[in-house]
This record gives sequence, C-alpha cells and structure tokens, in this order.
Amino acid sequence: TQSCLDAAAGADALNAYCAHTPDIAIEQAKAADARIGAGDAPDMCGIPLGIKDLFCTKGVKSQAASNILDGFKPEYESTITTKLWDSGAVMLGKLNMDEFAMGSSNETSAYGPAINPWRREGSDTKLTPGGSSGGSAAAVAADLCLAATGTDTGGSIRQPAAFVGITGVKPTYGRCSRWGVIAFASSLDQAGPMTKDVRDAAIMLETMAGYDAKDSTSANLPVPNFESMLTGDIKGKKIGIPNEYRIDGMPAEIEKLWADGADMLRDAGAEIVDVSLPHTKYALPAYYVLAPAEASSNLARYDGVRYGKRATLQSGEGINEMYERTRAEGFGDEVKRRVMIGAYVLSAGFYDAYYRRAQRVRTLIKKDFDDVYATGVDAILTPATPSAAFGIGEMKNEDPIKMYLNDVFTVTVNMAGLPGVSVPTGTDANGLPLGLQLIGRPWEEGDMLNIAYRLE
Ligand code: GLN
Repeated sequence: TQSCLDAAAGADALNAYCAHTPDIAIEQAKAADARIGAGDAPDMCGIPLGIKDLFCTKGVKSQAASNILDGFKPEYESTITTKLWDSGAVMLGKLNMDEFAMGSSNETSAYGPAINPWRREGSDTKLTPGGSSGGSAAAVAADLCLAATGTDTGGSIRQPAAFVGITGVKPTYGRCSRWGVIAFASSLDQAGPMTKDVRDAAIMLETMAGYDAKDSTSANLPVPNFESMLTGDIKGKKIGIPNEYRIDGMPAEIEKLWADGADMLRDAGAEIVDVSLPHTKYALPAYYVLAPAEASSNLARYDGVRYGKRATLQSGEGINEMYERTRAEGFGDEVKRRVMIGAYVLSAGFYDAYYRRAQRVRTLIKKDFDDVYATGVDAILTPATPSAAFGIGEMKNEDPIKMYLNDVFTVTVNMAGLPGVSVPTGTDANGLPLGLQLIGRPWEEGDMLNIAYRLE
C-alpha cells in the first residue's frame, strides 16, 4: 500500500488519480495486516486498489469527473466497493475518467485527460489511455495500484485495457450490482475489474460479483470460484470468428493479431469456426441512440437542488434560470451533446423513428449472439479495438463520430448483455499494446476467463 501511495503521489504527470485517500488506505492496510495475522484473510485482503470516480464512496468526493457534482461526497458506499472493503481491499484514491463515462479517450473529464504511460517508439506524443476508464487503465499499467475498478457501457473497460496492455472484464449484465455506481445508461452499464492479468481479474471479479436486492437488475445467481476455473484446459472448446468484424480499413497488424490469437487457441486444442453476426453494422448507430436516451433521463436529476453544484443567480432570476445555468455551467460539451441527442430521440415526434427502432435493432443483435451460441460455440474471438492508442487531441478535434467508431467491436457485447474480456496479446509497429477480446456465453465468465488465460 505504501509503495503504491508513493508511486501514485509521484505520478501527477499521468493525471490518473483525481483524488488520493492515503489516510483511508493506511487504516485499511493496518486492518488487513491484522486479518492476515489472525489467519482470516480473503483473497483481496490487503490489495491496494484505485476506484473509478463513477463509484460512490462514502465521505470521499465522487464526481464522475464532472463539474456538476462539484464537491459531492456521498452519504453511502456503492455495493461493489463495500464488498471490496469487506474482503480487506484497500482504497488508494479515486481514478480519472471521461465525464459521466461518456467518451473513449478520457478527454471529456473535468479533471483533464489521463495520460497513457506508453509512448510510440521514438516519439514524445502523449497518448490517451482510452476511456472512459482511462485513469483506471493508466494507474494499473503504471503500477500506481495493483488493480482498479472500471465500468463498461459500450467498451469503457475493454478498450482502455487494450490501450495500456492490461486485462479488463465486462461481466454479464446483472452480475455486479450497479447500486451506488453513478448511472450513465442503466440497461448497458456494468462494472468490472481492470487488472494486470487474467488470474487477478478472476479473483477480483469473484469479490465484486453477486446478488444485491438494491439493484433491481441484479441477478440472483451463485458466484462461482472463477480462479479455480483457470485450468488452461480448453480442448474441444469451440471458438467463433465473426465475419462481420472484418471491417473495412482494418490495419494489417490488427488482422495479424487476430489470426495469431486464433492460432494460439487452436494450438491449445480449441476448434476455430467461422460464425456470422449479421446485424453487427447496426450496433454502433443503435448504441448511440440508446445510450444517450438513457443518459438524458438519468442526468435529469442534476438540477442544482439535489447534488453538487448550484449556479449563482442574478437578481430577478428564478428556479428555471437556476436549472439552466447549473446545467450549462456544470456539464461539459460531450455530456450536453448526449443529453440533447437523448432528449431528441425520446421526444414524442421522433420516438418511433429512433428510440423504438434502436430497441428493435438491439433485440436483433442479441438474437445474433443467441443463434451463434445455440450452435455450441463457447466464446467469440475479436480484436478489442480497431487501432492502438491514439494521441491526445488526435481524435477529439475531429468529428465526434470518429471517436464513436472506436467502440465498433465492444458495444455489441453491452447491447446483448454478454460478458467480454480484453487481453493484451501483442504490439503494433510502434511498440504499443494491442488487445484481443473474447465474448463469452451469458453467466459463463469462468469459462471465458479460462480461454482468455490461454491468450496471455
Ligand atoms: N465510448 C463509449 C461512449 O462514449 C462507451 C463508454 C462507456 O463504456 N462508458 O459512450
């Protein structure tokens, strides 16, 4: 804990943490020492973690990297962090992220971008660690914590994990409680672990997962011992390669990474089969209707009355001006864009044309996966991202759609509620990490992680 605290305090340049909590960390670490001494130590006991700023942590600033939650200190602790602390884990601080988890580069944060600890060979260009869990990714990759929590609505655990060369797991929707995790798009949001390897991810996921009566979409299913499922034996497993993920303009190095990954699994005894997910091309546009729709509804609560910031009014101004000014000053540009798109697609005149149609597309995307899994496929292998980490500003200053395209391989998994894991398996020509994604069958995270284990 002390060495992580020291490393984190000396790494301001990465802007991975938005708050350090050394007093809490030392107190928790001492309690963990006592538990270990007493022989009562669960797997996570004494493990120093960083917590994404989207998680409510009692008495500790939790702002979802937004100015609208300026100074917000929750009165309660999220279920996931409660489980982690109960198992003896240690909180080093809160981690930077895109504002309300909207983004793929950590550049929408009110705290400024987190920086990827990796550099292109022979270049000083600062790269993004991806997003929205960019601070989590940078902190784990730079040894500023042993592991971190992330959240994933359309790729926000898996894409940053790939950009910094770590492992990131998006569990099946309903596996981890959303209670106390600040909502972005509630039907897509899932929290998960971001770790140095698959074994750590299995251990941490087991602690984070489990039924919670406080989340109505939490699944009442037993949580397996995921670590014990990492046997490395994948003989006879059927791995699907979806044709539709061979997108136009995919860099040759990503194609090679993908083919090499399939070879590794084949060499380990798996059977590699071609599969088809015909509605893939509609996933991104449907996601960027549904996620903003849910966001516009979830973010309506930030009105200057209940949480965080309240704008200063001029004389004669009333409650409407208070709402308007608070939201105008408190939200950043990307959040405003999403709220406007969301309000538009939900509006009476356009609901059928956009929101309802996108919901239908979502059903078809889910059915694509159901059909593939019905043929006995155990997991689906794809690239995690269409490129390696890009430079700060390189995408942000372009059309926002360019940034959205980065989520092409990850959003389908959220739309279908499936588990997915991103594993680092190679590097690009500049020496930057690249990752592959495995998509598992619902509730089969253990099996998925065991296959991922063979890709490390
Ligand atoms: N990049 C996607 C978005 O901006 C995904 C974000 C996420 O998974 N939280 O919506």
